[in-house]
Amino acid sequence: APFVEKATEQIATHCPYCALQCGMLLSGPRDQVTVEGNEHFPVNNGSLCVKGWNAAELLNHPDRLRTPLLRDAQGGLVPASWEDALAHVAAAIQTTQKRYGRDAVGVFGSGSLTNEKAYLLGKFARVALGTSNIDYNGRYCMSSAAAASQAAFGLDRGLPFPLEDIPHAEVILLIGSNIAETMPPLMQYFEAQRQNGGKLIVIDPRASVTTRAAHLHLRLTPGSDAALAHGLLHILVREGLIDKAYIAERTEDFEQVKGRVASYWPELVERATGVPEGLFTQAAHLLGRARSAMILTARGSEQQSQGVSNTLAYINVALALGLPGRIYSGFGSITGQGNGQGGREHGQKADQLPGYRKISDPGARQHIAEVWGIDESELPGPGKSAYELLEGLGQEGGVRTLLVVGSNIVVSSPNALHIQERLKALDCLVVSDLFLSETAQLADVVLPSAQWAEEEGTMTNLEGRVIRRRRAFAPPPEVKTDVEMLCQLAELLGKGRYFAYGEPHQVFEELGRASARGSADYAGMSYEKIEARNGVFWPCPGEEHSGTPRLFQQTFHTPSGRARFHPVRHQSPAEVPDEEYPLYLTTGRVLAQYQSGTQTRRVARLRELAPAPFVEIHPTTARHYGLVQGACVRLTTRRGSICGTVKITSDIREDTLFVPFHWGGKDAVNRLTNPVLDSTSRMPEFKVCAVRIERASAS
Ligand code: SF4
Repeated sequence: APFVEKATEQIATHCPYCALQCGMLLSGPRDQVTVEGNEHFPVNNGSLCVKGWNAAELLNHPDRLRTPLLRDAQGGLVPASWEDALAHVAAAIQTTQKRYGRDAVGVFGSGSLTNEKAYLLGKFARVALGTSNIDYNGRYCMSSAAAASQAAFGLDRGLPFPLEDIPHAEVILLIGSNIAETMPPLMQYFEAQRQNGGKLIVIDPRASVTTRAAHLHLRLTPGSDAALAHGLLHILVREGLIDKAYIAERTEDFEQVKGRVASYWPELVERATGVPEGLFTQAAHLLGRARSAMILTARGSEQQSQGVSNTLAYINVALALGLPGRIYSGFGSITGQGNGQGGREHGQKADQLPGYRKISDPGARQHIAEVWGIDESELPGPGKSAYELLEGLGQEGGVRTLLVVGSNIVVSSPNALHIQERLKALDCLVVSDLFLSETAQLADVVLPSAQWAEEEGTMTNLEGRVIRRRRAFAPPPEVKTDVEMLCQLAELLGKGRYFAYGEPHQVFEELGRASARGSADYAGMSYEKIEARNGVFWPCPGEEHSGTPRLFQQTFHTPSGRARFHPVRHQSPAEVPDEEYPLYLTTGRVLAQYQSGTQTRRVARLRELAPAPFVEIHPTTARHYGLVQGACVRLTTRRGSICGTVKITSDIREDTLFVPFHWGGKDAVNRLTNPVLDSTSRMPEFKVCAVRIERASAS
């Protein structure tokens, strides 16, 4: 029977999905919840996209997991008590660690977890398990932008300025993002910028709703971002459109970059990127002549094996123009996942501790050990990054028991079929989720977790604004929050004294102490303050501090206080088309689905709008292969094959196919994507690989 509870008041909370974290109001009984956009939340100003409007369907969904599941001797998943399920997990952890050592137990987290859960998961891994092997799906999302921002500015906050600055920018260069579909309420800021006379330039291999709103669309060859950025800077230097005073006063290493881009002649850049010289020259002129401008990257340029270099190349352009720290200007990266920002700040990354501290930094280790009440020597060192952790599952030296919290890795990982096989090789797979996702279906133990409107916590949106996600309903009786689950599991592992939290706000208070004086400082925040101010921007180092919407106005967070140019090289992606695989494959999102689709594929209206994946192909390419609209095709890369349905559109380049990544199963596009990693960020190359297309039978 559905679990129904009356909401006694209208609750102000936030959408369960993307990094915009739109404010919404929930009211009514749980089985007939009314969702309204919150007009008083100054990010969405009352707007929601179709995903947000239909989010309430998740609350009473018949597929919802309502009890733990254990795999029985016949191989089926059967209902179990929490006592039995957690005892099984604790025993598996202890057996694995006894046999193979502490690092043989791994944890895989998520950028959708609240700050409290992300923090607690990192602490659980290091203190309760003593393992170095914890990483999360944000490695697949923001890691290249994060590494580049750290390198250039000494600090990574997706947007170092508030959204309210966007309408005042004269020119915006947006790279690799289709925000009009992925975050529609965000477009109100770009629309206001246009009405103020501003210009939008979009760099994307694919035409989209966003590019149609742009003044210029630079449709580059997939994987050629650094060449295009160097080409822009070449023109800016040649024509004296750079900010020499800013470069001299606020940056270092410009001369090396100037030398690097000198050889990126427009003819060469046109050949490397496929963008006509006249078009990128026009873009350079618009940027160079603007009094205020923003350069914003996203996954298109970042999810590549050169993702960090690509991002640094665009940052070079921003620094040469003197944008970071200037009013209504700057460089930023648009975060995708709901808590993609907070998820990377509180210690669920393999190489980081809370406060965005490096796990290899002795001072950071000492501080965190003190907050956690342990000896610094007990803290493990850095572990394996997400794909490397998963690739080694069940193998010599690899993880043997894995706890996955809120992530559907058999859909979202590159080379996904291989990852599915590795998961099957585990001694024990434990998955905590709302639904029986494709990953949970493989688990030995499934733990039903509370969802967005059933628990208290905080999220940090794409601006670095920490917001309060409030509970509107209690979870169903046999469902626990991940905070409860982790605390009870720690107790069974004999570490309960480090996890004695009654309520999530106690976790948040400890998180604040752990983050104090770190890069992402939450020390001066409380639930009350966040609520009273409609969110607080970090850093917020003291109770009297009101938060920091704009960063870098006076100084950067590098040792010298100056931002650093980086003379990166343009390098081709790991795979380019050849005789056997003659086209590029790129992936992305559609309006009515979100991430691996665990939630949105279950919502009737969203399923109706976006029922299945498709293969976008240019009309000329379709003719070449004799394909018609709706034809069944087989796509093959060096990782495997999937089938799909043809969608003929001139939105895509002739040399490229596009497939959305929200669907699992045998036709999940991530079975094709290339797991080659960026050498710094360990980001897989989701956005470019070489592919073959051929007709397939309808079956
Ligand atoms: Fe807003 Fe994103 Fe939710 Fe849509 S999915 S309502 S853009 S937070």
